[in-house]
Amino acid sequence: MKSVCILGATGSIGQSTLDVLARHPDRYRLFAVTANTQVDKMAQICRQFRPRIAVMSDQDSADRLRQQLQDLPDITLMAGSEALTEVASASEVDVVMAAIVGAVGLMPTLAAVRAGKRVLLANKETLVMAGHLFMQEVEKHRAELLPIDSEHNAIFQCLPADLQPGLQHNGVTRILLTGSGGPFRTTPLDQFDQITPEQAIAHPNWDMGPKISVDSATMMNKGLELIEACWLFDVDEQDVEIVLHPQSIIHSMVAYNDGSVLAQMGNPDMRTPIANALGWPERIDSGVEPLDLVKVSQLSFEQADERRFPCLRLARQSIIDGGTSMAILNAANEVAVEAFLQGQIRYTQIAELIEQTMQHVPSRNTDSLQQIIDDDLSARAYVKQQISSV
Ligand code: NDP
Ligand code: MG
Repeated sequence: MKSVCILGATGSIGQSTLDVLARHPDRYRLFAVTANTQVDKMAQICRQFRPRIAVMSDQDSADRLRQQLQDLPDITLMAGSEALTEVASASEVDVVMAAIVGAVGLMPTLAAVRAGKRVLLANKETLVMAGHLFMQEVEKHRAELLPIDSEHNAIFQCLPADLQPGLQHNGVTRILLTGSGGPFRTTPLDQFDQITPEQAIAHPNWDMGPKISVDSATMMNKGLELIEACWLFDVDEQDVEIVLHPQSIIHSMVAYNDGSVLAQMGNPDMRTPIANALGWPERIDSGVEPLDLVKVSQLSFEQADERRFPCLRLARQSIIDGGTSMAILNAANEVAVEAFLQGQIRYTQIAELIEQTMQHVPSRNTDSLQQIIDDDLSARAYVKQQISSV
């Protein structure tokens, strides 16, 4: 019996994780769940799964949850961001699902790693912000890091089980990172200025939270995933080729020196990578529909156009610039996407603001968490100031 903590239980990944856990009550026990403000959803999770601890980061929301769960005194309710760190590193926990969205996920995910847990990493922003430091901590504390992002989980599945350090020593020549191209893959470029948040969050293949849906539309998501792949698999950005694959059936591929290319396929449903990482090295049922290739009928591939998707170019640039450039890119993106969702800026301004921020906020080479967070904050302040002066 493994004891599980879900950071971000009310989100899209959190809900898919609960769905998989519910299929295996004999294997997993839910120890702790966390959310920010969605009280009703959290109350429902608590009633169904009876975790030992429920955390609301937001204090008012924690008070409201307490009201709603008066008849369940066995569940301990906690509030605030320190509580996230506390449950992520609690001695009772074996597995932590890191599924908070954005940079706020960094500290609790790091806490889980430092406590040597099996960490299922959905929160890609953690690796984008502090990849070098994070991977060092994984090694130092012998944490078990398993990727949830469908592409990285696919790559993980296509690599040899007895992986030797350095992908080239395993005969790997290239990683092919696939992406659907999102809802605007064929939209005429002169219409990009009119794109609304509703159009941007309507992803053709995946059902996800609002922030990552916008990231998928701009393809910043693929840019963040490129950074994520470089840290996770210890490769250079030139070793990762981004390939558009509109059907989202192949989730990524690994090319070997004998000419073999291994792909992992499946329906676009996050319960597959979640079940893979939860059960690894065993395979467990995820509830995902079997793949019907005859129904899919065609798998097609295209090159990604950086004029259409300038965020791809910016993400690559941030890797080349190194240091805190990736944290700056990520922070600028978070603020710009939020402003776009709030109707404060146009779609095309997302990439423009990120580029300006990268030009104006100096990056530095550091593994100091405080300096990374400071540069993240400087980038946020810069973008907010630019938005308010428009
Ligand atoms: P959602 O927006 O659906 O959920 C986010 C979760 O984080 C919610 O539980 C939310 O709580 C919580 N949260 C938000 N802000 C805070 C905060 N300030 N403090 C504490 N908790 C907070 O996101 P997704 O599930 O889509 O994505 C989660 C992560 O997984 C992201 O990093 C994303 O990039 C990654 N990912 C997601 C995929 C997907 O298919 N959805 C695929 C691959 C990666 P509340 O509900 O109370 O606001
Ligand atoms: Mg992905």
